[in-house]
Amino acid sequence: MRSVVDSVLVANRGEIALRVTRACREMGLRSVAVYSDADRWSPHVLAADEAYRLGPAPASESYLAVDRILEVAEKSRAAAVHPGYGFLAERAGFARAVEDAGLVFIGPTSTTIAAMGDKTEARRRMRDAGVPVVPGTTEPAKGPDEAARAAREVGFPVVLKASAGGGGKGMRVVRSEEEVERAFEGATREAVQAFGDGAVYVEKFLANPRHVEIQLLGDADGRVVHLGERECSIQRRHQKLIEEAPSPVVDSELRDAMGQAAVRAAEAVAYLGAGTVEFLLDGRDFYFLEMNTRIQVEHPVTELVTGVDLVRWQLRIAGGETLDFSQNDVQMRGHAVECRITSEDPSQGFLPATGEIRGLTVPTGPGVRWDGGISVGMEVGLHYDPLLGKLVAHGPDRPTTLAVMKRALDELRIQGVDTCIPFHRRILEDEAFRNGEFSIQFLDQRSDLLAGSHSPNARRAAAVAGALLEEIRRNGAPGEPLESRSHDGAGPGFRRGRELSPWQRAGWPWANGG
Ligand code: ADP
Repeated sequence: MRSVVDSVLVANRGEIALRVTRACREMGLRSVAVYSDADRWSPHVLAADEAYRLGPAPASESYLAVDRILEVAEKSRAAAVHPGYGFLAERAGFARAVEDAGLVFIGPTSTTIAAMGDKTEARRRMRDAGVPVVPGTTEPAKGPDEAARAAREVGFPVVLKASAGGGGKGMRVVRSEEEVERAFEGATREAVQAFGDGAVYVEKFLANPRHVEIQLLGDADGRVVHLGERECSIQRRHQKLIEEAPSPVVDSELRDAMGQAAVRAAEAVAYLGAGTVEFLLDGRDFYFLEMNTRIQVEHPVTELVTGVDLVRWQLRIAGGETLDFSQNDVQMRGHAVECRITSEDPSQGFLPATGEIRGLTVPTGPGVRWDGGISVGMEVGLHYDPLLGKLVAHGPDRPTTLAVMKRALDELRIQGVDTCIPFHRRILEDEAFRNGEFSIQFLDQRSDLLAGSHSPNARRAAAVAGALLEEIRRNGAPGEPLESRSHDGAGPGFRRGRELSPWQRAGWPWANGG
């Protein structure tokens, strides 16, 4: 039996760390923040009951430093660890280390995480559970010849995918037999580099599917309910930018079918806590893509249309509570849309932007929610994900919700760093988007929406900079942090309210992210 959770170490930063800390506060649980030197005065740190320094800015020395996080958990006497998303959230080894330390990992068991983290194993399990998977192989191909044979059987075009894959790495679309060998070698090499595991398998490439995913909650009694779908087809380089619930193309019959498949998927791996089954939807056919064994960035749209607080439920389930509602109680009401606000400049090919947040005006009023992780005075650097916050709108129907979002985007002001707000405005005005007519190819096909007025050189520079940053965020940058801030005597274990940030001392109003 799991212990009762009365205190939670939040092993993350930014908006999700603040989101979890707020849920703890509302539920009367003690919250423990961790931070890198770059985040000493961030909202997630100031909001928590206690905060502990992990190390320098590079993620490898802070938010990915498992030993250090476990040390803090012990020192702070936290009962549970919430991993958020990204960083350590889907590392089975971290979940195991937390379990072994006698703490509650807020998520499924390490065994479930490991099973779903291996794409071929996940495909086998899903197939056995009667969940439709994208046509293709369920074992890695032993070499290019075997991959070519499988591709012929499946029919071109196919996609070669790394079994250990994530973040679009180790993926190659192959349109003809002649391309197989090169693609196989490229995907294998990339997979070895990124995951230390070169296993690659073959999947049918679907031309114009939509990305539609189902939110789940599972409890310790083995009960699983689904909370309907999220439409996440508006993506740039496989990164979601706008999400909504419900999907403009999913009716209640299709929702039931997808929901039941997702519940079977979760039951097959004894799923505990909040999780998401991602599908590719092609007409009315849907195929299992992967399962995310964590809370997702886009969870607020589901919360707004179902009225279910997913983070609270994560905490309640971790504390041993069982679900107090059933599938029939779940209803989707109205519509919700989320725009991810990142420090990327769409007019420069989404070049990552840096700078100090000099001003922040967050929209309010009916139907608006801001889940942010920034405050005035904060330095936006290059070490972490560029997500500054999420603007979410809610209304009785899709057109009204889009109007609320447009108004809220106009009110949102972030000064000091470039953001993708202008890009969101363009999309919201696009006729095809407004009509709900799009697939995952939408932004690839509509470069006019991405563009702005940048030259091919700027685009190339942005691509190179983006790749470098991705590398830094994954592995940490060697040497000095790119941004640093002096913070005298900011030792571990300070209590909230005892210290003032430099800009608080200078009289800045403390405008936190939300
Ligand atoms: P990763 O785990 O690396 O993110 P996924 O398997 O989740 O990889 O795929 C990422 C994205 O790539 C999907 O959201 C979709 O846009 C696209 N994709 C993946 N598989 C296919 C496929 N078989 N056909 C078409 N597009 C695909």
